[in-house]
Amino acid sequence: MAATFVNSGTGRAVRVSIRPESNQKIAEMKQCRMPEKDEKSATIEALTAIPEKELLMTRQVRVSIRPQDLPGESLNSTICTSCGETVRDMREIYREGKALCRPCAENKAYYEEIKENL
Ligand SMILES: [Zn+2]
Repeated sequence: MAATFVNSGTGRAVRVSIRPESNQKIAEMKQCRMPEKDEKSATIEALTAIPEKELLMTRQVRVSIRPQDLPGESLNSTICTSCGETVRDMREIYREGKALCRPCAENKAYYEEIKENL
């Protein structure tokens, strides 16, 4: 488990992750739990019992964020020439001069259209 936090104003970033040795300790603490405690409660209890510095590893990191990936309004939008859906933030892919969304461009839509009237 890890997360990266970026200050988009300064560009500074930190990555916080669970120390590998803490995973063993968490597992041991969960094994010693009261039988009436469920897995989730036992995990939360273990995570809160271990001191932060012992549990977490924090590193300064550098993250390159493209302008289109920053939060906020879309920088632009276009229409996929195959499916007609909107593609935002310069994520379109051009094939033979035509803008396509990624699923159409890669022929990897996670859905299959059913041709019947709704
Ligand atoms: Zn498409």
